[in-house]
Amino acid sequence: MVAVEVVTTASGVDDPWLNAQRQFDAAADLLGMEAGTRAFLREPQRQLIVNFPVKMDDGSVRMFEGYRVQHNLNRGPAKGGIRYHAGVTLGEVKALAMWMTWKCAAAGIPFGGAKGGVVVDPKRLSMSELERLTRRYAAEISVLIGPARDIPAPDVNTTPQVMAWIMDTVSMSRGYSVPAAVTGKPLSVGGSEGRSAATGRGVAIVALQACRRLGREPKDLTVAVQGFGNAGSIAAGLMADDGFSIRAVSDSGGGIYSDHGLDIKAVIEHKQRTGSVVGFRGTRPISNAELLETSVDVLVPAALENQITASNAGRLKASLILEAANGPTTPDADDILVRRGVTVVPDIVANAGGVVVSYFEWVQDLQSFFWEEIEINKRLERIIVAAFDASWEAAQRHQVPLRLGAYAVAVERVAEATSVRGIYP
Ligand code: NAD
Repeated sequence: MVAVEVVTTASGVDDPWLNAQRQFDAAADLLGMEAGTRAFLREPQRQLIVNFPVKMDDGSVRMFEGYRVQHNLNRGPAKGGIRYHAGVTLGEVKALAMWMTWKCAAAGIPFGGAKGGVVVDPKRLSMSELERLTRRYAAEISVLIGPARDIPAPDVNTTPQVMAWIMDTVSMSRGYSVPAAVTGKPLSVGGSEGRSAATGRGVAIVALQACRRLGREPKDLTVAVQGFGNAGSIAAGLMADDGFSIRAVSDSGGGIYSDHGLDIKAVIEHKQRTGSVVGFRGTRPISNAELLETSVDVLVPAALENQITASNAGRLKASLILEAANGPTTPDADDILVRRGVTVVPDIVANAGGVVVSYFEWVQDLQSFFWEEIEINKRLERIIVAAFDASWEAAQRHQVPLRLGAYAVAVERVAEATSVRGIYP
């Protein structure tokens, strides 16, 4: 390939896209990557911005902006969730798409990376407004998505119901059902057993694997979980089952803390009843900022990006961080944590359980042959343990932190596929 000048990113920024590029640059440096491949992998292949109208319940029409970004397609069709959030930006979606490329490669599943988002607070929409927004967004991005091209899945604020509407919208335009167009669907329309718990299950698997490597016992470890949604609540429940003591959890409404450990099933019921974990009996309130710095052994950020930054990284008490969320730690914070000897299991391994079972769902849909949950969980565990171990061993081999070890494994796989395929034409 022809050498191309690569501009590397300055430090000290909390822009997810610049952070994602900076993480990639560190891996490319470590691998001594050739400049042409590096320039190719540093940018998304496709970025679609859509502005579309939705009829509101009161008869008015509102415009919404959405995105679908495909970062890389060299290892297979693009794969990645769709986020509904008032703070979604194109830069955030680009970062999330790039992280998906590395995550699929780290897990060794045959996908590239993509992500989508709509700038909306779905809590302000009625169910029928949400359905119309979803269907119109799906129609707008249908130029990119499809079972062989790009397969969306749930992310923040998108649910199995939202996935069913996307699948139905794609199917209506084709004239036949296309279940493999999207994953994270309800079981009744081709969803997979184990998918809704898969991300949290993957986090719990890496928690045990990290304990084995660090010579620690779960029963001796206390945990705080920031974000009590799909990823965080399931991870908390399964980690509690494995013997960890979950001392604090939070959601966007605030957090709760108990010295005795929380009964996670009861907290889930409380949140379902009241809309938040806040006010759960026998606990004291704690802010999200306090939760991150609270005195626990293990911290599980499971909300959004940029929660652990240069301004709080020096005050964190946890010695093990499991990144259930995507991009919760900025590169500057990472440097501080490394200096302080904190082990960080990076997002591309810690939360890969979701995309792994999404892969199983896609395979099952393509074959119209469905597996039992026990089979799915067994296969999931094998893949997550292998991804964790490969990252750990690469980190030891290169004498680098675990994140860079995981990136070295993942980026090398994508670079290999890129170079074997060559540049078209
Ligand atoms: P979700 O919408 O189910 O839950 C998000 C949770 O975070 C909610 O409880 C919300 O109240 C809370 N939250 C939002 N802002 C917060 C704040 N500032 N402080 C504390 N809590 C806050 O979303 P999810 O699917 O669980 O996703 C959470 C993270 O996990 C995201 O980073 C997402 O990209 C990542 N992730 C999810 C999956 C998946 O399969 N769902 C897979 C991989 C990664």
